Amino acid sequence: MTSPSTLLTRSWIDRARQVTPGGVHSPVRAFAAMQCEPIAIVEAKGARLTDSEGRDYIDYIGAWGPALLGHAHPAVEEAVVAAARRGLVFGLASPPEVDLAERMVSRVPGCQMIRFVVTGTEATMSAVRVARAATGRRVIVKFAGAYHGHADMFLVSAGSGAATFGTPDSPGVTPGAVEDTAIARFNDLESVDRCFRDAEGGVAAVIVEPVVGNMGCVPPEPGFLEALRDRCTRAGAVLIFDEVMSGFRVSRGGAAARYGVTPDLVTLGKIAGGGVPLAAFGGQWALMQQVAPAGPVYVAGTYAAHPLAVAAGLATLDAIDAMLDLYDTLEQRGARLQQGLEAAARAAGVPVQVQRVGSMWTVFFSARPIRSWDDASSVDRQAFARFFRAMLARGVLLPPSAFESAFLSAAHDDGIIDQTIQAAQAAFAEARA
Ligand SMILES: *Cc1c(COP(=O)(O)O)cnc(C)c1O
Repeated sequence: MTSPSTLLTRSWIDRARQVTPGGVHSPVRAFAAMQCEPIAIVEAKGARLTDSEGRDYIDYIGAWGPALLGHAHPAVEEAVVAAARRGLVFGLASPPEVDLAERMVSRVPGCQMIRFVVTGTEATMSAVRVARAATGRRVIVKFAGAYHGHADMFLVSAGSGAATFGTPDSPGVTPGAVEDTAIARFNDLESVDRCFRDAEGGVAAVIVEPVVGNMGCVPPEPGFLEALRDRCTRAGAVLIFDEVMSGFRVSRGGAAARYGVTPDLVTLGKIAGGGVPLAAFGGQWALMQQVAPAGPVYVAGTYAAHPLAVAAGLATLDAIDAMLDLYDTLEQRGARLQQGLEAAARAAGVPVQVQRVGSMWTVFFSARPIRSWDDASSVDRQAFARFFRAMLARGVLLPPSAFESAFLSAAHDDGIIDQTIQAAQAAFAEARA
């Protein structure tokens, strides 16, 4: 038996590794590819985090997407506390969930009906089930490096977390689970057309992160999303925009609104729950009418439309709408950060690509732009790890992976951005090694 006093003197990660695989509950949290010990957070406020050792950081992980407003936004906090006082969970319908559904339907293009689930993984899994049921086909097309949650059928060329550890295909996934998943290259129509030609029985759905975040930030090239729309329409396939990350992030109505391309189904998560677990899939009325109990496609959940998440989601969308210029501000601050980082890297003589869409951004250690996973997989991972550690030492927390998008929030003001650029000036020099 370990005595309590021994436990106190051992670090949290040593204890965690005894009771949890790798010591963490989601792989990237282990910082493994960064070759340094992970941190554990005890408090988050605005753009800043405090770790268990009392150190403060400027946070660019943003909880991997949800923290658009910054951490612990007062209106969201209050809404959650008020909801908690009315009871944590009912297991039955509750009026505020109708408000949230209406608000999402009104702002997300192509979304006429919506169903709430708990995680993005469930949302994408369910959307594919609906697409397969509606088309009577099996094959789905996904893009190398894109991540759609950890359902078996998506764990082929799955980007970030998986790529970071060099295991794009997970053991435990049967060949049968992925044999109906065809892999195309992002921003490469030719590869999409090949998937359509080769798909036995036709393509049920193309699922795409319209702005890729999970191989780092990779924008769609002009015309690419439009062409996907066209191919799906002509083939009778369902176009699924996985906007779990980009939804409410790259514009008020997500990537579909930003680029003016309307999918058949959309998945939402992260910001949708305002920091409390909530995700959703939605789309055309006829497709969504397939979902039980309106139709035969089974999707259910004990915690689906959880009252605390619905309250946080509503408060978040309200706060977004109350800040009339939020997305313009994020764009301007994003540009300021991007220019500062580019100048700092140039001054240090380090070839990087700072790729950004609004408040989503990634520093790729590469001499040429990243258009697809083929480009992303050849970045200098060691240089990124050195840069990450040098930034961490200066109190700036980036996502601990060369293949993740970083995020600005409404709480990252110009002062915070300038501090970040200053830290980067020294960090790029150290990354050069
Ligand atoms: C995060 C993410 C998911 C998975 O969402 P979870 O809530 O982590 O299950 C799916 N798709 C995209 C694009 C994501 O960024």
